[in-house]
Amino acid sequence: MDVDATPAPLLIARKRDGGELTPDEFRGLVTRFLSGAVDDAQMSAFLMAGVLRGFTEAEAVALTDVLLASGDSVDLSDLTGPTVDKHSTGGVGDTTTLVVAPILAAAGCRVAKLSGRGLGHTGGTLDKIEAIPGFRTGLSVAELHAQVERVGLAVAAATADLVPADKRLYALRDVTGTVPSPALIASSVMSKKLAGGASTIVLDVKVGDGAFLASEAEARALADLCVRIGTAHGRRTGALVTDMSQPLGDAIGNALDVAEAVEVLRGEARGRLRTVALALAAAALELVGRAPEEAAAEAAGLLDDGSALERFRALVAAQGGDPAVADAPRDVLPRAPHVVTWAPPAGTVTGVACRRLGELAGSLGAGRSRQGEEVDPAVGLELLVRVGDAVGPDRPAVRIHARTAAEAERAAEVLPALVTVGGDPAPEVPLVLARIGLGPDRPGR
Ligand code: URA
Ligand code: CA
Repeated sequence: MDVDATPAPLLIARKRDGGELTPDEFRGLVTRFLSGAVDDAQMSAFLMAGVLRGFTEAEAVALTDVLLASGDSVDLSDLTGPTVDKHSTGGVGDTTTLVVAPILAAAGCRVAKLSGRGLGHTGGTLDKIEAIPGFRTGLSVAELHAQVERVGLAVAAATADLVPADKRLYALRDVTGTVPSPALIASSVMSKKLAGGASTIVLDVKVGDGAFLASEAEARALADLCVRIGTAHGRRTGALVTDMSQPLGDAIGNALDVAEAVEVLRGEARGRLRTVALALAAAALELVGRAPEEAAAEAAGLLDDGSALERFRALVAAQGGDPAVADAPRDVLPRAPHVVTWAPPAGTVTGVACRRLGELAGSLGAGRSRQGEEVDPAVGLELLVRVGDAVGPDRPAVRIHARTAAEAERAAEVLPALVTVGGDPAPEVPLVLARIGLGPDRPGR
């Protein structure tokens, strides 16, 4: 195929002035970026112009197509049962995959979950699940396929040859302030989901301080765009827009997140993580054909009767991890040597700086400050309170899990700015803000 060769400076200037690229021009620009003919500086300038000026839907579709065409795709079409994949646009304390995938497998779906590592202040499923001693995420496509057929689910790293162009582009966006664009996020997420091969795709589009998009209008636009792209590619696609103004779960870390997910699977933890996980599982079941009322009851039933927990145990065993994590997660998972609680002065919690809590957990070692760095599985934060809760010297707000006493102390010094007490409370936000491509507005219904 001929590659459009319109000089990059002209395309950058056109986007800067609010113009639009044709699909050929967009494909040509990205193709030349991948081959090195358009350099990082030019691509960054173009992306920043687009973040500020906006991309059209046609541009997002063209970008998805070039990203998808840059690598291999997984073929799951011969598996028995509906194939389902799930993706979150990224949040803090967001461990829904470890709850949703086992519920869906218990419901008879085939879940081939290709996950990523943490980005910026957000956590990633791969970093979390690797906290389980022995757990291996580097499955080949053949291993992934065989395990999904045998066990019903797998959680694996996307291999280097799956959407390599997204890896290049994402690494550049991560360091140039060009992540927050509905079109760029939609094409990044959907190219990976389309390459992953599942026939049903359920998306959790996060909105708020701890998400990449802070405005509900932009998050809805992102969800709409993802659903249209997936549907146009013949996949049953639905999205929930969910609140990320506070961390989703109590745990912000890697082992801590896994422990909390297991506690939800065991019926021991009931908070916001459980609510959103059940809503996502129900959305996926609706997409594979269940009636909306039945879908919610089925998801809750499979969680409550222990079926999902057994699927999780089978997943861990299949990928070489210690299955006892399903019984006593906090005994099996690595623990940080310095665990201290931090208590604010007496009062009522009026605000939680979600993104900054994610960053603080990251700086304790749960995340990366350079590409390729190892994460520390044991460290992180546990948020013991929510907006509206009473706190005080005998009611701590945060438990800090640190590698050294000095790091625990440094975290405790930062926390007063992150968990505010007194003043007007932050407005209460519903957990599920919108359902897109589901219920009566589901395409084809
Ligand atoms: N997650 C992704 O996979 N890509 C983005 O661009 C943002 C979040
Ligand atoms: Ca995630």
